[in-house]
Amino acid sequence: MEVKGHYRVVIIGSGPAGLTAAIYAGRAELKPLVIEGLQPGGQLTITTEVENFPGFPEGIMGPELMNRMHAQAEKFGTEFYFGTVTRVDFSRRPFVIEAEGTVFTADAVIIASGASARLLGLESEKRLMGRGVSACATCDGFFFKDKHVVVVGGGDSAMEEATFLTKFASRVTVIHRRDKLRASRIMQERAFRNPKIDFLWNKVVIDILGTPEEGVKGVRLKDTVTGEESEFACEGVFLAIGHVPNTKIFEGQLELDDKGYIITEKGTTKTSVKGVFAAGDVQDSVYRQAVTAAGSGCMAALDAEHYLAELEFQESQKK
Ligand code: NAP
Repeated sequence: MEVKGHYRVVIIGSGPAGLTAAIYAGRAELKPLVIEGLQPGGQLTITTEVENFPGFPEGIMGPELMNRMHAQAEKFGTEFYFGTVTRVDFSRRPFVIEAEGTVFTADAVIIASGASARLLGLESEKRLMGRGVSACATCDGFFFKDKHVVVVGGGDSAMEEATFLTKFASRVTVIHRRDKLRASRIMQERAFRNPKIDFLWNKVVIDILGTPEEGVKGVRLKDTVTGEESEFACEGVFLAIGHVPNTKIFEGQLELDDKGYIITEKGTTKTSVKGVFAAGDVQDSVYRQAVTAAGSGCMAALDAEHYLAELEFQESQKK
């Protein structure tokens, strides 16, 4: 196993949590390495305008915000590696982090690998993904000009995606499994006011109809109250049913909760392994905001800094 480099801190993930951790670790002269992951910049790179990040009263585009965080991290000496972590070994020291065959070692690790869109788990959804089915309105909305699309979900993401899609689609139908939305009031009202958006209540999608060649033709629905099944014609399906944490590679190495989120010690970013810290959506199933992710990224860098100082002290005592 050839080790490409050893770092005081390796940060896994490059969303607001990872990059904020990098800014703080960089300023503490720890020369961190950020392994950027599948989607450099994280989920904000596939959103449009961010209206609630403090300091930007006029709003800022998601990708622009992430570019700025990247530049700020770089300014303080962060190194970036474009790749995805495929294996970690936290049972030995230094820790081992492998990205598609390239191996790094680190004295401390900050995990900020975020979360990915949850899917319905239908065979047809897999078959038609990218062929009329999408989990990202901002990425794919443009391809649905003058089409009738459905958005599945009742949270803020569903309202945001439905509203965004009305820029392109002729009609947007939100399909929700209950008769009440989970979304915040302001997002609900925005969607209710939009004449291009309508709602189907108490329905779940049990199949997506269509072929990869011809695209989506409709969805098969089941009423959650009566159990009755029906078909609904549409030309696109957008899934906005929440997210799952990206923690597969940490199974068996770190303590995870029953939903797969990394468990951290209350009030800190410490995981079940000393020297491994977690920040952002990978350990937060409640707030999941850019600003809370950034906040916990800062905490993780400070926690890692303290840990490394302690480690250094212990080693100096041994000599
Ligand atoms: P969410 O709040 O967890 O909502 C997920 C929605 O999908 C819920 O309505 C849920 O139904 C539904 N759902 C889940 N699994 C389903 C399934 N298998 N079949 C059908 N429906 C299913 O997720 P989110 O909307 O992605 O929001 C996540 C967080 O980000 C929230 O804290 C939200 O406030 C925040 N956010 C904020 C903004 C903003 O402020 N601009 C934008 C986007 C997201 P139930 O309601 O019945 O559970």
